[in-house]
Amino acid sequence: MVSARRLINRIVYGSRYDRVHWTQRVYVRPGERLAREARWRWRLRRAPVVPLADYAARTPLGAIEEFVSCLMCGQSRQQPLFEPANGDGWSYRVVRCPSCGFLYRNPNVRPEHLGDLYANGYSGFLTGDYAANRQRRYRLTMDAFAPVFSDGRGRRLLDFGCGAGLFLELAEQRGFEAYGVDLSPDSVEQANARLTRARAYFGAPEDVPEIAEGGFDVITLWSVLAHLPRPLSDFSLFRRLLAPGGVLLVLTVNARSLLLKAYGPTWSGFTKNHLMFYSAETLRTLLGRTGFAGVSYAPHYGDAVEAGTDRLPEPLRRRLRRTVEAADGGNMMRALAFADQEAIARWGGDRRIHRLRTRAQARPVPAAD
Ligand SMILES: [Zn+2]
Repeated sequence: MVSARRLINRIVYGSRYDRVHWTQRVYVRPGERLAREARWRWRLRRAPVVPLADYAARTPLGAIEEFVSCLMCGQSRQQPLFEPANGDGWSYRVVRCPSCGFLYRNPNVRPEHLGDLYANGYSGFLTGDYAANRQRRYRLTMDAFAPVFSDGRGRRLLDFGCGAGLFLELAEQRGFEAYGVDLSPDSVEQANARLTRARAYFGAPEDVPEIAEGGFDVITLWSVLAHLPRPLSDFSLFRRLLAPGGVLLVLTVNARSLLLKAYGPTWSGFTKNHLMFYSAETLRTLLGRTGFAGVSYAPHYGDAVEAGTDRLPEPLRRRLRRTVEAADGGNMMRALAFADQEAIARWGGDRRIHRLRTRAQARPVPAAD
């Protein structure tokens, strides 16, 4: 029995895409990118823009939540877009900033309650197949930014939001003097059981003397950025903790993902504890406002494609790569941020670097007369 949707797709595209995984079809069927992008623009034009007060008056507020304005540009007006939900009983509302396009959850989680989300049982899913897939993802991303992670000897690394230590394990294998912090106490316990030299700590970086002293050559945020309710203060801290020539690696869901444009509220990036959804543009805003000198991106084609374990015929694989690049539409975003000019000189290589005007350059302090 062929479903109606499948039948329509067969008539439109032919049967050659039947066996392509659904997360890849959107990228390889001819014309689909342009159709999805047009529909997305139409959706944005149609969504009303409302003052924050009006939005707050008609939107329920949970016990640990608060209403927020756009953290990237300060705009208080809201463009409600989605209400992701799933069978576990959670749901939230995602709005778009009409000025800078930032996507975020509103109401958001009050920062002082962030720990509540990770207090118990969060480490449960961080093992087994998940662990193997995650470590593959870390290796692919380290390769994409080679040679930053090739040789860690004599270099300090901080994994912020280290979970059960799956990345710290790879970092210590590569010779880094590696530290981690996390808000989930049982994850930290698991991490320290897994590690030989690297150390994981529960809490905030400022509370751990070995970490608070800074001097890090590398800081990593693996699927953490979307969880941060106060990214500006966190990134200012990361900038302070980096040594001269230091770099910050970010992997997060991509707010320009073609899968978001295709699937809207059921997009895989709308998971339970995600608070904010960045694109290359809004990440540049965040980095520029917190004193970073530049950033470079590596498009994400999907772990299976990059690892060579997908079963796409070569012409379709090439088309997938072209679509990801043309749309800036990979499902994940991977970025390497440079603390200063020295970092760009040391690690920039022949990559395309987006130079950032830091806040000090953008708004010079007026000279006293
Ligand atoms: Zn904004």
